[in-house]
Amino acid sequence: MNPIFANLPTTVFEVMSSLARETGAINLGQGFPDDPGPEDVRRKAADEALNGYNQYPSMMGIPDLRNAIATHYKHWQGLDLDATTEVMVTSGATEALAGAILGIVEPGDEVVLFEPMYDAYLPLVRLAGGIPRFVTLQPPHFRLTEEALAKAFSPKTKAVLFNNPLNPTATIFSAEDLALLAEYCRRHDAIVISDEVWEHVVFDGRRHQPILGLDGMRERAVKIGSAGKIFSLTGWKVGFVCAAPHILKVLAKSHQFLTFTTPPNLQAAVAYGLGKDDSYFEGMRQNFARSRDRFVAGLTTLGFDVIPSQGTYFVNIDIAALGETDDVAFCRRLVMEHGVAAIPVSAFYAEGAVKNVVRFCFAKKDSTLDAGLERLAGAMRKAA
Ligand code: PMP
Ligand code: GLN
Repeated sequence: MNPIFANLPTTVFEVMSSLARETGAINLGQGFPDDPGPEDVRRKAADEALNGYNQYPSMMGIPDLRNAIATHYKHWQGLDLDATTEVMVTSGATEALAGAILGIVEPGDEVVLFEPMYDAYLPLVRLAGGIPRFVTLQPPHFRLTEEALAKAFSPKTKAVLFNNPLNPTATIFSAEDLALLAEYCRRHDAIVISDEVWEHVVFDGRRHQPILGLDGMRERAVKIGSAGKIFSLTGWKVGFVCAAPHILKVLAKSHQFLTFTTPPNLQAAVAYGLGKDDSYFEGMRQNFARSRDRFVAGLTTLGFDVIPSQGTYFVNIDIAALGETDDVAFCRRLVMEHGVAAIPVSAFYAEGAVKNVVRFCFAKKDSTLDAGLERLAGAMRKAA
């Protein structure tokens, strides 16, 4: 068997969700909202399944959706994308990531990765034969530094895997950080694979800035999005890839033998959804920000050291102040003894030994958050 997969542990999300199911714990681990998602979008998917076309759609995505993606990114991010040569639909961001990595990275190429990193990245880079070069981001700010980039980039750098807003840290890279990374990509003639699935889930008036929009990046950036996050429908697995025609042409080749296409009713529903009024997107953000504020206030009152959350469904705590040195052991105790599942952030590091950060998902009903906080109070009492 291929050791890249044979030696991999089961993903931390599945492990924690299984433990939560077995023990009846409140699951604040894996990132998915309690909210069922917009009813009109789900109704459109149901309608299309009953009355629409259910055979293979075009491998690049249905034209309505490709047009809707281009229009949506023009409206929200000021990008001018050509729907027929620069936009492709995939089965989730996961397929887009796999296709981009396999389509770009050749054996022996170096790939710069920023840890903490989403857990799919590294196995996919290894599968392509890429050589990972890590930049370790440190809590609580998880900022890029020029020194770290200078160490990680080399003449062999082919690609950079970047995630902004960043899961699991819930931080957003500053304009200076983006400019610095873009400068390194240009200087080393590297392609940035930019995972922007959290682009709409940003709080406190922030607006997402795609790295593809920066000077000189149009020719060397692959922008990846996901309807799962935009519409709080994480099971839908409808992703988007935007890239210059010479890059997209190749990514279409890897896509054609990964999944080839994506369920047409979901594509039609997402096309409809992307055209919704600004008020839907603003409202979605406000609801999540309200949940964040409720949960953070509770954590703070209990005495947890909270790392501010700027976007995503997540907020992290630093457990060092509690005298804890092992996030995995802490999360295990939390779920087994106190009935709350969380995610140990060390699972997102390959090299850096950061073991003092724990991630919670706050995209839940008030009653779920309050019940989670009550159980966390028990954990704090025990620690005291
Ligand atoms: N990238 C990141 C950073 C994610 O957080 C997720 C899922 N939460 C994905 C990719 C996968 O997205 P999808 O479900 O569309 O495959
Ligand atoms: N992206 C989700 C999270 O960070 C989980 C995705 C998954 O379970 N594979 O929690």
